[in-house]
Amino acid sequence: NQDAVASPSPSVSVFGNERRWADTTSYNTKKKLQAWFQLANGDWELGKIISTSGNESVITSDGKVLTVKSDSLVPANPDILDGVEDLMQLSYLNEPSVLYDLQYRYNQDMIYTKAGPVLVAINPFKKVPLYGNDFIEAYRNKATENPHVYAIADTAIREMIRDEVNQSIIISGESGAGKTETAKIAMQYLAALGGGSGIEYEILKTNPILEAFGNAKTLRNDNSSRFGKLIEINFSETGKISGARIQTFTVEQSRVVQCMEGERSYHIFYQLCAGAPSKLRDKLHLKSVNDYKYLRQSDCCSIDGVDDAVNFHIVKEALDIVHVSMEDQESVFAMLSAVLWLGNVSFTVIDSENHVEPVADECLVTVAELIGCKVEELKLPLSTRKMRVGNDTIIQKLTLSQAMDTRDALAKSIYACLFEWLVEQINKSLAVGKRRTGRSISILDIYGFESFERNSFEQFCINYANERLQQHFNRHLFKLEQEEYIQDGIDWTKVDFEDNQDCLNLFEKKPLGLLSLLDEESTFPNGTDLTFANKLKQHLQSNSCFRGDRGKAFTVSHYAGEVTYDTTAFLEKNRDLLHMDSIQLLSSCSCHLPQIFASNMLAQSEKSVVGPLHKAGGADSQKLSVATKFKGQLFQLMKRLESTTPHFIRCIKPNNNQSPRSYNQGLVLQQLRCCGVLEVVRISRSGFPTRMTHQKFARRYGFLLLENTNSQDPLSVSVAILHQFGILPEMYQVGYTKLFFRTGQIGMLEDTRNRT
Ligand code: ATP
Ligand code: MG
Repeated sequence: NQDAVASPSPSVSVFGNERRWADTTSYNTKKKLQAWFQLANGDWELGKIISTSGNESVITSDGKVLTVKSDSLVPANPDILDGVEDLMQLSYLNEPSVLYDLQYRYNQDMIYTKAGPVLVAINPFKKVPLYGNDFIEAYRNKATENPHVYAIADTAIREMIRDEVNQSIIISGESGAGKTETAKIAMQYLAALGGGSGIEYEILKTNPILEAFGNAKTLRNDNSSRFGKLIEINFSETGKISGARIQTFTVEQSRVVQCMEGERSYHIFYQLCAGAPSKLRDKLHLKSVNDYKYLRQSDCCSIDGVDDAVNFHIVKEALDIVHVSMEDQESVFAMLSAVLWLGNVSFTVIDSENHVEPVADECLVTVAELIGCKVEELKLPLSTRKMRVGNDTIIQKLTLSQAMDTRDALAKSIYACLFEWLVEQINKSLAVGKRRTGRSISILDIYGFESFERNSFEQFCINYANERLQQHFNRHLFKLEQEEYIQDGIDWTKVDFEDNQDCLNLFEKKPLGLLSLLDEESTFPNGTDLTFANKLKQHLQSNSCFRGDRGKAFTVSHYAGEVTYDTTAFLEKNRDLLHMDSIQLLSSCSCHLPQIFASNMLAQSEKSVVGPLHKAGGADSQKLSVATKFKGQLFQLMKRLESTTPHFIRCIKPNNNQSPRSYNQGLVLQQLRCCGVLEVVRISRSGFPTRMTHQKFARRYGFLLLENTNSQDPLSVSVAILHQFGILPEMYQVGYTKLFFRTGQIGMLEDTRNRT
């Protein structure tokens, strides 16, 4: 059995750009071993090596005999490692083994797997029997160790109480991966353990409200969140929930006025049209979905299995529970109706220069009535714009396309402000029972890294945010890892990790960073997407994460891969399009909500930034650019997260059809790479990921010793085994209680054990 004693055993790493096999040949000559080989479609399949000669190996797989290139084989793990609950336990860590482990578990409805300190959750797209009181009890009593969101939430509560440090649960993943459901499952656990005051019930009821106003059907997800959310749940000294606070990140405004075919606007519009009782309908002049341009245009009014009318009542009930008064609720619905009617406002040409004016029909009259202004007052900002030229203010008439843009900008702003106002109302209600105890658990449900065929301003912002979160992720995971080594007294020199500071600098550096240059170009009257792209090329080439591409494109090397951005519409999207005239209208109308608009708008107008066309009404008319506002929110978020102990959950979408029992290897792999899961396992394992107590090690492998040791002491037996197998000193460390091994070491012992 000579070939069993190979040293060092193959240490495999095929993550990122690395592909290191310390000793490929010795691995391949180990007959009877299992290995992965790749099919033409990229999927991996398991085979057994029969023989190897030269650069070719003969393998059997599924009854077939195949000849493959030896160096294309990737080692598979011994069967005892099938479906391990932590990827760190894999002896051979490589992409096919990780994919197989996750799939093996997923097929048995074990959708949760640990990747070292991170929880991986695969969306089952069906009900799985993993939730509810019995499970909550089991995790509360530590009766089970299976990876679960409940386990993460449980750890968070315990650590909050034990260490008196605030905690955070950071959930990421691409659209449809299950972030929002996962966040709700975590909230469910916290509510069950920390409940009692009744406030937990209110907290849970914020979900249907925020989903109604902030979620929509997209091509990727029937219930896609179009905003990011951080909910901070406060606890009293006794571990009971005492209050909560929600922070949201920019709701996608463009969806209100425009969405792709097959997608919908925000759920609440359809719910209102379908579910409002007749008295309310009359009062708000509500019609049906098909009567509204904004809702009709995407040719998609309903969602399979969803009853908008029923959901309207659920939302109303939830609003009652979080103490939004009847009066306020009605105002909210009136604003929604105003938005819909605004979309129906049309224009007629009034002069030879194609200037237009809104038609004073039912639509315009209804909008004016709903927001509480005179028809003439509404007409003005929809047909003219005040401009400052030098020290004079002139009035410019609008063309059709300008007027339509202005109308849509107004609708978008009303909606965005309404959303923010609603969140504030909810926060007031949730703060009622709150006493500052300094103890909280925050749950972050935020858009994950995005890389599409065409990437625009939205992806630019989202990926920037993910770059920041990734830095947080890195810093934290290294720290934890290294602390454990020190505790067990092992010799440890600090491990370097892939730092993404260069990429963050690319975005944030002043004055020569992506964000600064974008803002600068947005203020130039003659700035275009092309001049912006050229400016980037001129100033940023020296940053290794940046590459200027042909035409209007540029590429950023993100931690999760390269993304090429198309600068088309960057400047326009970065400028906030709402004009001062509209802002003034909204702050002066007699509807119930002008305070919100006023405070919202003025808050934004303090600092400088963009829009040559917006310089009406003096210096205070300048507004923050969208990117700058986003960056501000992000910094605030990071500051809050920084003071917490984080727990990470990475959600994975197993297929693109939202269907159960379907696992697409390529798709999963791409997400594992993007959300940094492979990276974290690789980095964690670059330390000494396999740990076994001296006792366990001696018991498991002691019988392989060729010569008896004189001592029965587990540590001596362990050392004798290490020597006999020639495991190199740099491959392990002996701690006070445990042995620590590098990747692959135990796998080799395990193989030998099985073949003996
Ligand atoms: P987006 O970024 O678009 O908001 P998301 O990551 O928040 O996406 P979810 O809305 O949470 O995705 O999940 C999409 C759908 O997947 C859910 O509506 C639900 O049908 C299903 N799903 C997700 N997680 C689970 C789960 N644990 N059990 C059952 N179904 C789930
Ligand atoms: Mg979501």
